[in-house]
Amino acid sequence: MVGLVPTMGAFHEGHLSLMRRARECGCVVVSVFVNPTQFGAGEDYQRYPRELDRDAALARKVGVDVLFAPSVEDIYPAGGSTFVEVTGLTEGLCGAHRPGHFRGVATVVAKLLNIVAPDRAYFGEKDYQQLQVVRRMVRDLRIPIEIVACPTVREPDGLAMSSRNAYLSPEERRAAAVLSCALTTAQAMVRAGTMGADDLLTRTAEIIAAEPLARLQYAELVHPETLTPVESVGPEAVLALAVFIGETRLIDNLRLTAG
Ligand code: AMP
Repeated sequence: MVGLVPTMGAFHEGHLSLMRRARECGCVVVSVFVNPTQFGAGEDYQRYPRELDRDAALARKVGVDVLFAPSVEDIYPAGGSTFVEVTGLTEGLCGAHRPGHFRGVATVVAKLLNIVAPDRAYFGEKDYQQLQVVRRMVRDLRIPIEIVACPTVREPDGLAMSSRNAYLSPEERRAAAVLSCALTTAQAMVRAGTMGADDLLTRTAEIIAAEPLARLQYAELVHPETLTPVESVGPEAVLALAVFIGETRLIDNLRLTAG
């Protein structure tokens, strides 16, 4: 069996956890490709960290068999005019704030799946909407591949690992813990019996607002599969956040469960 872990490189423990999980397949392929079509104008495509030598050494250490680092021309041949668009699921959350982002994601993932032809592909729950979009695309296009979801790996203070955390100043890095703090507070409220989206989202916004370096872009309580807003947790919902810490946009989410 072949397992594929698609990434944009600048590996951290989150990436490595996907690679370790993928070792359940006999052959592990990791792709490193900073995908231009998923970045909007004015986003961080140019400055996105590129550390291929370091990534190769880390991948080797965790037992990756093949590191696939295509060029932009490899993935987007001149004159290309085909894109993959998943409708509905991509309209809310990050899709509402990053027009075209998920079209870029779906397109590059479809291409990588075609090139590598794995049996399984591994994605992190950290990028929850991306995971659902990829699942839907694979199902709709009848791509004969199993999508495996892997849990979010966090720093000791709760911050979800991300290549973009490298942009944070030491002060911003401390402030960034506010995302996971808001999520775990919401989970505690649910356990204590608060199920309503209004109450949970109000508290979430208050926690973010109390951090001077943070600015909330969105906080939403959504159905785990359809990603449509729900009025209450029950029995399960996903609380999804996008927050600017200074100039750096971070996302995080937590599946809230009643009981
Ligand atoms: P990226 O390189 O940021 O595009 O991420 C590549 C893959 O790693 C995606 O499937 C992400 O969801 C996953 N990933 C990124 N950060 C984490 C994390 N902290 N924990 C688990 N998976 C992650």
